[in-house]
Order: sequence, then structure tokens, then C-alpha cells
Amino acid sequence: MIQAQHSLAEEKVFKDPVHKYIYVQDQTIWNLINTKEFQRLRRIRQLGTSYLTFHGAEHSRFSHSLGVYEITRKIISQFERGGYPDWPREEKLVTLCAALLHDVGHGPFSHSLEQVFDTNHEDWTCRILLEDTEVNRVLYEFDSSLPERVAAVIRKTYNQPIVISLVSSQMDADRMDYLLRDAYYTGVNYGTFDLERILRVLRPHQGQIVVKESGMHAVEDYLMSRYQMYWQVYFHPVTRSSEIILRQIFRRARELYGGGYAFAWMIEPLRRLLDDTLDVENYLSLDEALAQTTFMQWTKEGDPLLSDLCSRFLNRKLYKYAAVDKPDEELWQNIRGQFAAIGLNPDYHFEIDFPYDMPYDVYRPGLSSNDKEEKPPILLLGQDERLSEISERSDIIRSITGLHQGKYHLYYPEERLLESAGKLQPRILEYFGLL
Ligand code: ZN
Repeated sequence: MIQAQHSLAEEKVFKDPVHKYIYVQDQTIWNLINTKEFQRLRRIRQLGTSYLTFHGAEHSRFSHSLGVYEITRKIISQFERGGYPDWPREEKLVTLCAALLHDVGHGPFSHSLEQVFDTNHEDWTCRILLEDTEVNRVLYEFDSSLPERVAAVIRKTYNQPIVISLVSSQMDADRMDYLLRDAYYTGVNYGTFDLERILRVLRPHQGQIVVKESGMHAVEDYLMSRYQMYWQVYFHPVTRSSEIILRQIFRRARELYGGGYAFAWMIEPLRRLLDDTLDVENYLSLDEALAQTTFMQWTKEGDPLLSDLCSRFLNRKLYKYAAVDKPDEELWQNIRGQFAAIGLNPDYHFEIDFPYDMPYDVYRPGLSSNDKEEKPPILLLGQDERLSEISERSDIIRSITGLHQGKYHLYYPEERLLESAGKLQPRILEYFGLL
């Protein structure tokens, strides 16, 4: 068993626009916040490229991580006050450390980068916990088993499932913080919900977190907020356009690198990324400041495609989009041919996007077992101690459950099409709404 926590002589307090205050009472948590790996999260935006759509969305993973810690701390202190026997009290520190560190492995513009280079921020989080880092030293100093235990929570293999469900489930501290924080910083008011009320109705019950039946309406409110944020912020088509450009920059750079292209500007961590030989030290020096500087330098590269993509991203000259209901492979193939004929690159200048590959979803009570993102459903605890899945009880939740059939969005450089409009079939101009 892990030894008792060391309290700070004086409680530390952070001012936070979402939770008003964030309280740190424990020496280990305070030391973790002061490691260079955690401080690096100040240089990674929580919402990637969303600031190009919502200019307020400049908040960092640092503020989000503190917020997840604070929500977890509040839930645990409510469990402790209630004296619930199903909450294992000795797990407090491990849970708080996992909450604080759950995103420490995020890279710059994480989801776009992960798609191109097939990396995974959870793997990097575990490596940062377990390899030679300041975070590892702080955890190890407290107890030599702590790094491995926190990593097990992140990997969802920890032997106390209730700890995992606080950090990662359909109603975990992570989602509760990012929904409120993203709503605040984007200015999307309908993304909010009553956090205080939700915290009051959560209960530890047989190895999982459940909701007292009387809290059903507060959970409806929370899921509606997820619904709103999904469609208004996370799947905003302009944000998707900027993500496409970003992915294309990385894709083009990797293509050029593989072909032996001599970059006028290249630095070690980036070379290692393109080489697929990143170690923890190099990975940690990849942040958004470095990415932006790289894009700035690459606007001067000899490869016209790479330099064009970089200046599009920096100057927000994004691809326009047309929304269509149905796929039309034959027409899309024709479009690719015509694009090539007017000097465009169909591998870059025509992208089809569909909202299925989002890192966010609204709510799915039961997922197929091959879905690695499977999360336990939200369960209501009745007065008779019986559990029921929430979408069976709530009409509102039933109506927003499951994956939505969104529209297909086709992205393209509008100004290049207009320049060559005379050479394109009218049918295609019409398809893009340019006629
Ligand atoms: Zn998170």
C-alpha cells in the first residue's frame, strides 16, 4: 500500500476562469506541476487549430490538466465526506496524479499529428511517466511503485476500475473539464452545464461511478452540452479545413523527406519525427511554438506545395468546403482528373471529410467490443439499489444517442478553381456552388 500523502505546509491556489480556484494541498501534486514536462503543456493548445475558427480558443492543455485535477479532487472529497465504503481511500493520490498527468504526452496539434505519423499520446504519456523524466522522479521519490501505477490507470489496466472510471469514462473528470473550458474559451454559451449539481449526485458503487437517480436531469444537461459542443465546435467545418491543411503539411514534409529532398530548414526533433526515431527528449521539444516557427520557415522552401500549404495555414487562407449528402465516387474521380488538368494536385487539393473519425462523440451506451475507445455507459442508481442505463430512462438522451449521419464535406482551394473556371466542366463548378 502507498504511504500517506505529504501535505503542503500551506495550500497553493491557482485562479481559474472555469472553476474559480484550483487548490493544491499535496506536495507530490505541487512538485508534478513544477516539472518541465508539465510546464510544457502551456505551449500546447487544448483545441489544436480551433483558434482559427473561434479566436478565443487559445487555452492550453496546462489549464485543462489543472481543471481535470480539480474536478477529480472535488469528486474524491465528496466521496470522503459521504463516507461511502465503495470508495477506496488509499487510491486518492494515484487518482489525482493520473488526472493531472493524463494529457502530458500530447504533442503539438495532437490529433492531426497522430493521424499522419501514427503516434499515440497515451503511449507518450506512459513513456513520460516511466522513462528518465522529472515527472518520473517526482512520482518515484514518493513511492517506487507510483510511476507504474499511474501508467496503469492511463492504460486502463489498473486493478481498481473505479479509479480508471474517474479519469476515463462517459462522465469522467476529463470530459467535464474540457466541455466547460472549451465552451468558455470559444464563447459558445450553450456548451455549459451544472457541474456542482453533477458532482453532488455521483456515487462510488461496486467498482464504478454511478449517478443517483434524482440527478438524471443534470446528466441530460451535461449530454446536451456534449451534443452542442460536438456540432458547433469540435466538428466545425472551418476547423476541419485547418486540420486538413495541417495534416497535408506533415504529409508533404514526410513525402519530401522520404524522397531525399534537402530542406533549407530542418532541426533535430523534427528530423526525428520524419525519421520515425523520436525518443522522449526529442518528443518533448516538439511543441506548438516549434511547429509554428517551422511553418514560417517552410513558407520559403523550394517545394511550391509545401510552401503554399504553410502560408495557407499561417495566414488562414483555408480551403473552402461544399457539403453533400451522399458519396459519389464516380463524380469524385472525374473531379480529381479535372483538377489535375488545371495544374492542381488531386492528392492535396481535393479532400473528402466525414465526421466519423472524431476524437469526440456525443454518447453511445453500448459499443462493439472491437472499438478501442469503448467507455462504460452512464448508470443511474435507484433507491432500490438497482442500476439502469440512462438512455433507457431519458427520452432526451435517447434522441441524441448514437452516431449522427453527418454530411460529407469536400474541401478545395476555391481561388484556384475560380482562376481556371473556364477549363472546368459547368457540372463541377455547380457541384462546388461556384456557378
Ligand atoms: Zn484531457
